[in-house]
Amino acid sequence: MSLTLYDTYTRSLREFEPLSPDEVGLYACGPTVYDFPHIGNMRTYVFGDLLRRALAFNGYKVRHVMNITDVGHLTSDADTGEDKMEEGARRAGKTAWEIAEYYTDVFKEDMRRLNIQEPHTWCRATDHIAEQIREIQCIEKKGFTYRTSDGIYFDTSKQPDYGYLARLDVEGLEAGARVDMAEKRSVTDFALWKFSTPDAQRQMEWESPWGVGFPGWHIECSAMSAKYLGPYFDIHLGGEDHISVHHSNEIAQTEACHGTRLANFWMHGYFLQLGDAKMAKSAGGFLRVQTLIDRGYDPLVFRLFCLSASYRSKLNFKWESIEGAARQLNRLRLAVHGWGDPAGEPDEAYLQRFTDVVNNDLNMPRAMSVTWDLIRSDLPDDLKRATIMRFDDVLGLGLAEWQPEATAVPDHIKVLAEERRQARSEKRYADADSLRDQIIAAGFDIKDTPRGAEITPRAEAETEATS
Ligand code: AMP
Ligand code: ZN
Repeated sequence: MSLTLYDTYTRSLREFEPLSPDEVGLYACGPTVYDFPHIGNMRTYVFGDLLRRALAFNGYKVRHVMNITDVGHLTSDADTGEDKMEEGARRAGKTAWEIAEYYTDVFKEDMRRLNIQEPHTWCRATDHIAEQIREIQCIEKKGFTYRTSDGIYFDTSKQPDYGYLARLDVEGLEAGARVDMAEKRSVTDFALWKFSTPDAQRQMEWESPWGVGFPGWHIECSAMSAKYLGPYFDIHLGGEDHISVHHSNEIAQTEACHGTRLANFWMHGYFLQLGDAKMAKSAGGFLRVQTLIDRGYDPLVFRLFCLSASYRSKLNFKWESIEGAARQLNRLRLAVHGWGDPAGEPDEAYLQRFTDVVNNDLNMPRAMSVTWDLIRSDLPDDLKRATIMRFDDVLGLGLAEWQPEATAVPDHIKVLAEERRQARSEKRYADADSLRDQIIAAGFDIKDTPRGAEITPRAEAETEATS
């Protein structure tokens, strides 16, 4: 079955066809590195990772590019307010460059903790100022810009289909505009380049043909995606909040300069919510991956929690759900570990069922149901193991690497195991069996492997289906 994905641009499920047989180009809008990433942000990157793994699972070679926004993202989407980086630097008493480096490292560490594969290309906005200036010059040459006293703006009225991605009602927005438009001609116009102001000394600023200043937030993605993937590539990703402003503006810029709508597929991850509110950095009080670790959870519990919902629906964060995911991950790991070493080929029927649901717009809740069905099935263990290892290429739960912690087996059980080993070596099989029964009665499984007896806390007989 071919891979079907939901494309926000056409508002439809479309069969994925790569633009080139060699490589699928994937661009994901990366983090703004002025603060810690919260687990809402990380949900969006888990979604991107599932997509990338699903593409690889279908045999595609992927080139994954991610930007780091380290300049130009202002506190208001209307291109007013302070640069988030400068604000973050002031708050931390550090330079903007220092906090960019610090929070980039934190973000990368959180990606590793969640088994999110690293992009092949990282690109920082501040490393691509020349490319952004060239992109703005190109847009200017095509006649889509105007100058105000505070910057160079994109004139959205010149583009009849501006905002199509978001199905924006531009006239309605104009009529209801309450924001201070300053010298902007239309409420949807946005900054390509902002001038530094003499009263507020910026740490990050550059010379440009228009005056000293800094790039607007959206231009970096048009400039860097064009540089690394070309002006028209396969899939562009982001969170749902990007649809109405950031991605609409990226498309406007790229269309103005290159005449393409930037990407063939536009895909968006829906928000992780805390109660009824979205989790947001600017709102403060958010949860980090580190918060989960501090509460004793393996970060992959959060990854499994993300698999419990489609990326196209909002997901409510609840500690009870995290607890449930923790129990499931434990059962999954113990079951897989108990099957011993992998051998042979995956089971074709289960592999097909799994592929069908993954290829149905990444239906991960169904993919988890297939996984639990496999675990409960009466297939031989080695076949189960070989099959689940293939599933894990997409799930990314690190099932092959997991080992029970040595401390999970208490000393008195280890003593019984040692006595059993001795009994066996002395051919006192009745004694050995009785010792084995004692170990099992205490809640452990014991399995004889070429490396010796392995003891694991017993997986509960009931494996839980995802809800
Ligand atoms: P930012 O660092 O603010 O630029 O955001 C990084 C990514 O996280 C973007 O793709 C956002 O769309 C996404 N995002 C922000 N808040 C949430 C949330 N509560 N749930 C899921 N994704 C989010
Ligand atoms: Zn972007």
